[in-house]
Amino acid sequence: MQNEVDMGWNLKNTYAQLPKIFYTNINPTPVNSPKLIIFNDELAKSLGLNGDGLKSYDGIQILSGNKTPPNTIPIAQAYAGHQFGHFTMLGDGRAVLIGEQMTPTGELMDIQLKGSGRTPYSRSGDGRASLGPMLREYIISEAMYELGIPSSRSLSVVTTGEMIMRMEEELGAILTRVSSSHIRVGTFEYIARWGNREYLKKLADYTIKRHFPYINYEDEPYLRFLEEVIKLQAILISKWQLVGFVHGVMNTDNMAISGETIDYGPCAFIDTYIPNTVFSSIDRYGRYAYDKQPIIANWNLARFAETLLPLLDKNEEKAIEIAQDKINSFMELYEINWLNGMRKKLGIFNSEENDEILIMDLLDIMEKYNADYTNTFIALIFEEYKDMSLFESVEFKDWRKRWKLRLKRQEKSKESIIELMKNANPALIPRNHRVEEALKVAVEYEDYSKLKKFLKALKKPYEHRIEQIEYSTPAPKSNKPYRTFCGT
Ligand code: AMP
Ligand code: MG
Repeated sequence: MQNEVDMGWNLKNTYAQLPKIFYTNINPTPVNSPKLIIFNDELAKSLGLNGDGLKSYDGIQILSGNKTPPNTIPIAQAYAGHQFGHFTMLGDGRAVLIGEQMTPTGELMDIQLKGSGRTPYSRSGDGRASLGPMLREYIISEAMYELGIPSSRSLSVVTTGEMIMRMEEELGAILTRVSSSHIRVGTFEYIARWGNREYLKKLADYTIKRHFPYINYEDEPYLRFLEEVIKLQAILISKWQLVGFVHGVMNTDNMAISGETIDYGPCAFIDTYIPNTVFSSIDRYGRYAYDKQPIIANWNLARFAETLLPLLDKNEEKAIEIAQDKINSFMELYEINWLNGMRKKLGIFNSEENDEILIMDLLDIMEKYNADYTNTFIALIFEEYKDMSLFESVEFKDWRKRWKLRLKRQEKSKESIIELMKNANPALIPRNHRVEEALKVAVEYEDYSKLKKFLKALKKPYEHRIEQIEYSTPAPKSNKPYRTFCGT
């Protein structure tokens, strides 16, 4: 045997130990001439992986799916899902889980190749992905992580050297996606529909062991499980709303049980504060608009709760009652998280009954004056009120007086208020025009310098560094709404 470089792999295959119904064994389909485009050294290190090794010829063979690391059982996971409200069978149609990396801190992280070729779940798809959307997922997922929002992460993007057919011919690419698991609401829907109670229990027990090991089995474990999933989603969605993130396809198959954001397709961040913003070209009825996201999460969680009914009580009626009760708690939990987040954005440490009114009044005038969401809060931190008609308005001036009085009532120093606000308001978000600009030169001219510079600026957005300022300018006003397309 050749002397192989130690890449640092410490892969487990716990999901592949589940019954066969949960997955299909399959290798990634080899590609012509893989080329590494971007690699996340920091993430590799935190996973205990040898970055230099992975960037070498042998490493790229693994990142492109031409070779699999030692001791792997590559699989495509089976799942179903409600897509725009309609139930359907899905599964990894263009992704392969090559294993779960045990990190130096003892966490188990899925290593998945996305765009790795056809699987039995591909339906009519080609199993591939193109460079633009994979770089887009890389940018947005890393930006989300830096914003402190639970998210899958991106280890690398390689191009395949093979052209794929989309609207026109595009270069194929593979993203290595890292996530604390890829168990979805749709995974539970799949097994509830096509499995049996024993399989359902196996999946629930596996998920509890992996994500909620602290749940005590003596004491209604499945109800606690449901409660925890609801809690994580309430936290996640409040964080999305607080930074203005629109996922775009909140189908149940794109909702991870771990509470991480997954499946970055036509997602985008709002600039101008327009609550019913929709970016996705396929979301014709605005089902997944910015302001609908909490309601949709609630709906998805109800689908999740339904799958757990057989584990909640032998008596179905009683099970429904128990589940309904938990589902009903979501909105309140979400609102508490959102309200506390908003208080921080405004430098408020404690809570007063009228805080919500103060916050809603600000949002209302932001909407009225087409204010930039992120930059309104930045202006409040630094008290630099420029470039927005909002700041000239009487409504804002009145509101500001009320806000200042509110801040005075908490007896906190100016410095500590500014500190709180800086930590709650990012200096920048990945603005759509900046994302597009970076992708355009990357895809058209193989020039990755803009992308790399942008990724650097997106790091630690709460530091408010000078180099972040140039990325905080909103796009010039256009009369065409920004549209995103599914990452296919
Ligand atoms: P998504 O819209 O990315 O959440 O994907 C929805 C479903 O379509 C999943 O089952 C994907 O695996 C599948 N899918 C998306 N694109 C492709 C493709 N190019 N080839 C095969 N399956 C795909
Ligand atoms: Mg998906």
